[in-house]
Amino acid sequence: MMLLETRALTANYGQFRALFGVDITVAAGECVAIIGANGAGKSTLMRSITGVIRNEAAMVLHRGEPIGALSSAEIMKRGIAMVPEGRRLFASLSVEENLLIGGQARKAPGPWSLEAVYDLFPILRERRKNPGTALSGGQQQMVAIGRALMSNPDLLLCDEISLGLAPVVIRDIYAALPKVREGGAAIVLVEQDIGKALAVADRVYCMMEGRVTLVAKAAEVTREEIHSAYFGVA
Ligand code: ATP
Repeated sequence: MMLLETRALTANYGQFRALFGVDITVAAGECVAIIGANGAGKSTLMRSITGVIRNEAAMVLHRGEPIGALSSAEIMKRGIAMVPEGRRLFASLSVEENLLIGGQARKAPGPWSLEAVYDLFPILRERRKNPGTALSGGQQQMVAIGRALMSNPDLLLCDEISLGLAPVVIRDIYAALPKVREGGAAIVLVEQDIGKALAVADRVYCMMEGRVTLVAKAAEVTREEIHSAYFGVA
């Protein structure tokens, strides 16, 4: 049984249809990358999985159970955690308080605790009393990832975690992902940087105009296949 599955998933913004029957699967412990140009529907897919957009129940399955109609809070309680685009830390709270909020959202046994997050990102231990706003963009991203991990999810969804960050910081953040998988979580990564996505993922889905145009093993996919799936040209 798949950890996560979408079946003929559609999503609309009012009259505008953004997803036209998207089928993806994520196995337990797997890392799946979702790539595609601006407007392809990647964020809408994330919002559908996390309950920000409510769908028909059977369009999203978690461990075989329909979750497409559940609220974000209910989905988070099931063990699906999101690192949102733009990080969205609580600015008036410290690093540690931000992390603890993640643990309160879902109390579940697992490898992640304050100490484990500080071991993953040691700079956060040094900054633990600082307000979220006093951090660099990369450090804020680390807090956002740590906050999601504190709920001990079985699936971590990451939306554009490298956006706007310096290469050295991106490297540190990507270096943490294998450790997240060692902790038992599967990862879905929405990523503009195709090289980064392929380096870390087992499989890659490419989306265009609300549809999946390619699914492939990251180690086997060719530049030509990605190019045509991305831009819709042969
Ligand atoms: P990006 O990389 O720019 O975030 P994306 O692949 O994540 O792109 P989505 O943000 O999912 O794409 O957008 C898919 C389509 O839905 C686009 O045509 C977009 O204009 C539209 N869209 C996204 N959010 C909304 C919204 N809140 N209201 C109306 N239309 C929206």
